[in-house]
Amino acid sequence: MSLIVAKFGGTSVASPERIQMVAKRLVAMKEAGNQVVAVVSAMGKTTDELVGLARAISKNPPKREMDRLLSTGEQVSMTLLAMAIEVLGHKSMSFSGRQAGIQTSDEHSKAKIELVHADRIKQALDAGCIPVVAGFQGIDKNGDITTLGRGGSDTTAVAVAYGIGADVCEIYSDVDGVYTADPRVAPRARKLDAISYEDMLELSSAGSGVLQSRAVEFARKYKVVIHSRSAFSESEGTYVKEADSSMENAVISGIAHDTSEVKITIRDVPDSTGIAARVFSALANNSVNVDMIIQNISEDGRTDITFTCPEADLENAEEATKAVIETIGARDYVVDNNIAKVSVVGTGMKSSPGVSAKAFTALADANVNILLISTSPIRLSVVVAADQVELAVRALHTAFGLDSDKVFEETMLSAEELEAKKNKGR
Ligand code: ADP
Ligand code: ASP
Ligand code: MG
Repeated sequence: MSLIVAKFGGTSVASPERIQMVAKRLVAMKEAGNQVVAVVSAMGKTTDELVGLARAISKNPPKREMDRLLSTGEQVSMTLLAMAIEVLGHKSMSFSGRQAGIQTSDEHSKAKIELVHADRIKQALDAGCIPVVAGFQGIDKNGDITTLGRGGSDTTAVAVAYGIGADVCEIYSDVDGVYTADPRVAPRARKLDAISYEDMLELSSAGSGVLQSRAVEFARKYKVVIHSRSAFSESEGTYVKEADSSMENAVISGIAHDTSEVKITIRDVPDSTGIAARVFSALANNSVNVDMIIQNISEDGRTDITFTCPEADLENAEEATKAVIETIGARDYVVDNNIAKVSVVGTGMKSSPGVSAKAFTALADANVNILLISTSPIRLSVVVAADQVELAVRALHTAFGLDSDKVFEETMLSAEELEAKKNKGR
């Protein structure tokens, strides 16, 4: 008998029929002798729709109200799933983040889980129930509802798994595991049987949406084993766990891409001491998460500064940039929304020279123009035009010998869902 946390994402609970499928799967797990706790995301595109509603009312909705609004999505799916389980003759109870004892920091829209008081979930399990927990939400010390950032139900699942001491945290989605690249972008991507926390964290941070990076961070810290697998098939997925000898010893673990960032260039900046400090302090003070930065070589004591940040921070970034331009005497700034970041990731890169040369050659051969470059010991990232992202991912995937001889096949997604996936992050 195992104690399992099973998290189902938005696509897996997108309709009443899919909720019934999930209920059947949970009941089968229980009837096989396991104890199981479900964690759910909001149905389909509910969260995006709620964001749209708020934006129709206000350009800058108060964050407290926004979190309260967004948390309702998961509260709908959790109750429907609990009802579907009851219809199958098993006991179930749904729990909002507050009821499940998920205590978080007070940073609305990106709160961090601080503690899980799992007593109520444990009591429900002991009473023979299948508890269903709303993902993505918690409660801060003031008693206000918080949310954990987009994709945050993954983090709820890992935190609940840790809180109840589960044997495994199963994360069900519309792909059957972690691939060497997003298989919808690089159909020759290969599914991994297992991946270390370190490699997965780097892939997730670089944009591989299959697992939220906070969830992987939490799992690594508390040694929670994640099993990423398909909601639509029984096949084994990918285990995310501590590195061991059974794992592939690859230099490159995968290629990640991220289309959710924008590039801002401040033009004609005086090249003198302290200017960068002023620009980036202004951005930090306005809560902008700056990612990549480059400063051009100066000509006649003037230069350009370019940086990237999440599109979600664009309004704040523009506000801070406008104000700082006046104080430092720069000319103006330009925003480029049509960019994508593509990263080559692997902890094995540390001890293997030549990764940059190989990557740049592959991109040049594919006629992909590189706009920005940044590196870390275990990651090489380039920014390219958004319409070259697929080309870039595939070229790098092939160049690093990651291609499989099988082509990825879609399972169960409707044409509409596929289109939404393609546009995700834009
Ligand atoms: P859910 O809504 O269930 O949380 P997500 O859409 O967040 O699911 O995550 C699954 C998606 O992640 C897949 O549909 C796939 O297109 C995308 N993805 C990105 N990178 C990878 C990768 N390396 N391996 C597998 N899937 C990936
Ligand atoms: N519903 C939230 C989102 O769409 C959280 C999640 O699905 O994990 O981001
Ligand atoms: Mg997700």
